Amino acid sequence: MKIGIVGAGIGGLTTAALLIEQGHDVKVFEQKQDITEIGAGIGIGGNVLEKLGNHDLAKGIRNIGHEIEQMAVLDDKGNTLSNVKLKKKTVNLTVKRQDLVDVIQSYVPSQYLYFGHRVETIESEPLKVTLKFESQSQADEAFDLCIAADGIHSNVRQSILPDSKPIYRGYTVFRGLVDDVNIKEEQVAKEYWATKGRVGIVPLLNHQAYWFISINAKAHDAKYKAFGKPHLQAKFNHFPNEVRMILDKQSETNILLHDIYDIQPLKSFVYQRVVLLGDAAHAMTPNMGQGAGQAMEDAIVLANCLAQYDFDEALQRYDKLRVKHTKKVIKRSRNIGKIAQKSNKLLVALRNFVVKIMPNQLASAQTKFLYKTKLK
Ligand SMILES: Cc1cc2nc3c(=O)[nH]c(=O)nc-3n(C[C@H](O)[C@H](O)[C@H](O)COP(=O)(O)OP(=O)(O)OC[C@H]3O[C@@H](n4cnc5c(N)ncnc54)[C@H](O)[C@@H]3O)c2cc1C
Repeated sequence: MKIGIVGAGIGGLTTAALLIEQGHDVKVFEQKQDITEIGAGIGIGGNVLEKLGNHDLAKGIRNIGHEIEQMAVLDDKGNTLSNVKLKKKTVNLTVKRQDLVDVIQSYVPSQYLYFGHRVETIESEPLKVTLKFESQSQADEAFDLCIAADGIHSNVRQSILPDSKPIYRGYTVFRGLVDDVNIKEEQVAKEYWATKGRVGIVPLLNHQAYWFISINAKAHDAKYKAFGKPHLQAKFNHFPNEVRMILDKQSETNILLHDIYDIQPLKSFVYQRVVLLGDAAHAMTPNMGQGAGQAMEDAIVLANCLAQYDFDEALQRYDKLRVKHTKKVIKRSRNIGKIAQKSNKLLVALRNFVVKIMPNQLASAQTKFLYKTKLK
């Protein structure tokens, strides 16, 4: 089958890798000139690795990953509010985003990748779908199937569903990557929750770590756009030593800043011969660390369905399996964000009390559904 994939992010690349393996005639169109992912880390949950099974990609990711066994939430004085052991017999990894992209891209030979190709519009008909590019010099091209993996602002999705605009969730996130850190508990990812914001510190391989700081803000807040390392240090200087040490190690440059959005869960990811995948289909807040993981799961399920069923049934099956599941992840991530971003002192005290008395098993039960999805 001739398949056009829009977007070479984690979702598009994983889909391409799996479909090329099945012998499809694949073309991946990416608007940028290359795929660089500066200065950020990412968590890949055991639910994703389990679904990749014995595929070489899983081995590749394990090779670049650092294993995390616990997730701890603390207050700004360093008191532990919860400390959840991750599900037994699962491997939860943290990786540098660039390493992850490089590993996945190594399964997509360069002849399948078309950089500098921004898809402007699509025309879907019963028997074909045509991609049209922004540049006049790039000729329209028809495919049997178009997979839109063009991210949260997907213009493919918004051309089909104009109301499906990203919704700002009220907080903005700074991120960075640091070397030579001495983290005492290397298997624990930590979040410090306080009225001023939330600070996360996540160990990576080779004494590196990534961090994030999530602050309630207006969308495109000019105040935070002007923030650099010294401003973050000043704002969080009362936090425990570990936070101050990480900010101290951060270089003045390469601090990322992103406002946090998600979309309302969609009723369908399939529109004739166009399939939405990854953030284009189900952009979610990063509170469960599942966005990229769910994009990879979409790719696995779509490839399995196309291999197992005839065309129409495969798309129906993908739709049925992924819409319902990712809706749950969007909603749960959104709710965690609402709880974690509280800034009112009284509400924070109440929240901290509740989190502290909540049994750890109850907290870990919140993620069990991630393992219970069907693969085809
Ligand atoms: C602060 C933060 C922290 C996060 N942490 C985690 C985490 O720990 N774990 C996790 O699993 N997820 C995490 N995520 C989510 C994760 O980054 C996304 O879910 C993931 O990158 C989605 O991948 P994607 O391939 O669907 O989309 P994207 O990565 O957005 O890729 C889309 C690609 O399409 C290209 N494109 C867009 N439009 C066009 C067009 N018209 N034509 C051609 N190309 C186009 C873009 O240039 C881009 O390369 C986090 C997100 C944020 C913001």
